[in-house]
Amino acid sequence: MSKVLIIGAGGVGTVVAHKCAMEKTVFSDIMLASRTVSKCEKIAAEIKAMHGRTIQTAAVDADNVPALVKLIKAYGPKVVINVALPYQDLTIMDACLEAGVDYLDTANYEPPDVAKFEYSWQWAYQERFQKAGRMAVLGSGFDPGMTNVFCAYVQKHLLDEVHYVDIVDCNGGSHGKAFATNFNPEINIREITARGRYWENGEWIETDPLSQSMMFDYPGVGERKSFLLYHEELESLAKNLKGLKRIRFWMTFGESYLKHLEVMQNIGITRIDEVEFNGQKIVPIQFLKALLPDPASLAANYTGKTSIGCLCEGIKDGKKKRYFIYNICDHAETYKEVRAQAVSYTTGVPAVTGAVMMVTGKWQGAGVWNMEQLDPDPFLADVGPRGLPWHVEER
Ligand code: NDP
Repeated sequence: MSKVLIIGAGGVGTVVAHKCAMEKTVFSDIMLASRTVSKCEKIAAEIKAMHGRTIQTAAVDADNVPALVKLIKAYGPKVVINVALPYQDLTIMDACLEAGVDYLDTANYEPPDVAKFEYSWQWAYQERFQKAGRMAVLGSGFDPGMTNVFCAYVQKHLLDEVHYVDIVDCNGGSHGKAFATNFNPEINIREITARGRYWENGEWIETDPLSQSMMFDYPGVGERKSFLLYHEELESLAKNLKGLKRIRFWMTFGESYLKHLEVMQNIGITRIDEVEFNGQKIVPIQFLKALLPDPASLAANYTGKTSIGCLCEGIKDGKKKRYFIYNICDHAETYKEVRAQAVSYTTGVPAVTGAVMMVTGKWQGAGVWNMEQLDPDPFLADVGPRGLPWHVEER
């Protein structure tokens, strides 16, 4: 039995806290810490009412390493689950090293002033984690996360060489708002408005934002137009899959979402640089975040499903084979279970499974790891019953 410290009390933090509380055989004590402690307290009260378990709460500024170290040392967790924002990854990693505990997150570090997703900053911690004998697992959400594990499973069991991978992500749900993002608006809009990029024959190929699309038939949802985006798991999978020739990432967006995004971009409210306003400096995208619905608040009225998977083509015993491995998740069902919508749920459940792998020793090893570098079997055996059943089809 282990103590776990969760940092971040947003949509994903809600799911992680509920699911840790429901895991009574692994986690003896749970602490949820975040910048705004009242959000932690609200989640703790829900958990008490729904699962009969008391969890601790704390206020912490995760940009402040000494404050984090003090909290971690005082509480003494076996693992820290970071579900704050990507901007806090490095400070939380620093604090875990100093306090001597393992680390897990769901999104790679991004500097606040450049919309740039890459693992270089976190991979640079490799030697420090190795020397400290500590484990850091990066990107244990759905994408990255489950998608990396799906690829590892295909590589381990289904194909001798994985040549082509298309990761396809569809949110076929509806929240009834004119415009809202399903996770942190600032992070989400930065990701979508960035230039597209995919990897082919050893090179990165750049595309204009949302300039390439295809139709894909998503199980449980149907045919949807899907747009090529750069997504962070492409970077590690391009390194770690054997024989890979091409890997791309696709996500669906509705017409209305794209129209809103286009207008917002045209008027400059998605800008991430500072502008002068009434004698003070503001960052337009942060102001926009303050106006948009809090993603966690969408959960109560969300209907429909998410459907996300990996289409992998390659060679098995000299023959061409193609597999689709995926999960379908229902927004209304996840709300009933943990008071969260499916985008938060599909991120939070793999984070809890990853932490369970670490504290039970099913995954171990000093250093910094991407998910596909670890054994997919115990992870996939755990994550299905925990809430994300997965399916493989030969195509
Ligand atoms: P939210 O914005 O809903 O929640 C973020 C939480 O972090 C808030 O409670 C916020 O506090 C807290 N926080 C922010 N800054 C600090 C700080 N300096 N110190 C302490 N707490 C802080 O985001 P989500 O829950 O939607 O997303 C959480 C993470 O999950 C993000 O990193 C996101 O990129 C990642 N994600 C990963 C996905 C995947 O599939 N891999 C998919 C979706 C999300 P406050 O309430 O005070 O603002």
